[in-house]
Order: sequence, then structure tokens, then C-alpha cells
Amino acid sequence: MVPVVPMAPGRRRSTVARVAGELAEALLPQRCLVCGRFGAALHEHCLDGLDRAAARRCEACWAPVSHDPGLCGRCEQASPSFDALRTPLRFTGDARRALLEAKFRGVTRLIDPLAALAARAVPLHWQIDAVVPVPLHRSRQRERGYNQAEIAAQVVARDLELPLDPSLLRRERRTPAEAHLDAAGRARNLRGAFAVDGPPPPAVMVVDDITTTGSTFEEAANTLRAAGAATVYALALARED
Ligand SMILES: [Zn+2]
Ligand SMILES: [Zn+2]
Repeated sequence: MVPVVPMAPGRRRSTVARVAGELAEALLPQRCLVCGRFGAALHEHCLDGLDRAAARRCEACWAPVSHDPGLCGRCEQASPSFDALRTPLRFTGDARRALLEAKFRGVTRLIDPLAALAARAVPLHWQIDAVVPVPLHRSRQRERGYNQAEIAAQVVARDLELPLDPSLLRRERRTPAEAHLDAAGRARNLRGAFAVDGPPPPAVMVVDDITTTGSTFEEAANTLRAAGAATVYALALARED
């Protein structure tokens, strides 16, 4: 039975959201998001059918390019502040549905298979000292009850046998939603959003769930470099092309 306790109005939504998420996790049988059959949140072969972000991509920001391997027009003009970004999936179709369910509806078990896929997209030559999730502001994390990027980073670190450092980056400001903003607007919105706790190791891989313009990774990389990191890689589960 769920105990009935008086709650301050500000906490009500967070607790309801958390309990709803936990109930969904506990009560719903493992049913695959793609095929609807039981047995897994996402079957291995259903995962194989998701829309891949592969082939003909910018070596730096992973944007689609029409030519053979190289840089996209934007990165030709100015390199991003991270060294390179990789993502296994495009943010479309069932991958999009899975990530939105995980992010907003608490179906966090969907993150594991997607993050395992992301771990396999990390190039072998990347030398990584620490895996660092993109943090949520603590008030947002309190409302949501979890950070989907942190869950993804845990899986990636485990699969690649790398150290996880979930507290290296901290979100200083609660940034407004940015779905309606263009790249420049997003960059402005995020400026000064992060802080680093303690000196970072030389090479860091930052992990997020979804990337659109790469502006979150850019800002995280700027912050980590200013604190002394020499190399900053970026890994997302899906990219909105
Ligand atoms: Zn399936
Ligand atoms: Zn590029």
C-alpha cells in the first residue's frame, strides 16, 4: 500500500512521477517496445532493426555528410570543443519512442539495451580515463527521480570496463527547455551551465541520451577543458539529424 503522507505542493509532482515510474517498472511485465512480445524491454533482434546512425558521417560531430569520410561543413569551419562524437542510433521511429519513454515516463529499463549498443559504437582507439554522464540540475533530478544519462553512462562504463565518475560534472543552473531553440540559441542557453568538481583526468568521455546540435556536449567539453582535461569525447544513444 502506498502510504498517504501530506506533501508540500512543490514536491507533489515529483513524488507522483517517481511512484508512477516505479509502479510501471514493477508491475508491467517485460514487453518489447518494438514487437510487443514478452521477454525483454527490447529484444536483441528488435534492437538490430532500429535506425542506425552509421556510414557517411562527419568524423567530428557525426552529422550526416554526402561525401566520403571527413568533416562536415560546420566542423571544417570551426572544430567543435569536443574531440569527437559517436552515437549508434538516429533519433527516429522506435529509438525515439524508447528514449522518450525512458526520459519522461520512467521506463528506464529501455536505457540498458540502447546504452549497450552505444558502448559498441565507441571507437577502439579512444583512450578514456573516465566516463562522465551529462548531469541534470539537482532540482530536475529530484523531480524525475533519476538521470537517464547517468543510467546510460553506468552501462557504458560497465561494458567497456572503464571508471565511471558521475559527480565530476555538475549542473550549476537549471536551463530552460530548449526544443524550440536553434544551435546558437542552445549554446547561449547553456553557457556556464556546468561546473567541474575536482581536477578531471586527461581524457573524459561524456555520455548523454540524445544529442541534437551537440551544444550540450560543446558546453560540457568547454567546461572540462577549462578545468584541465586534454581530450573530451562525446557519446549519445541517439542523434537527431
Ligand atoms: Zn521485440
Ligand atoms: Zn561535423
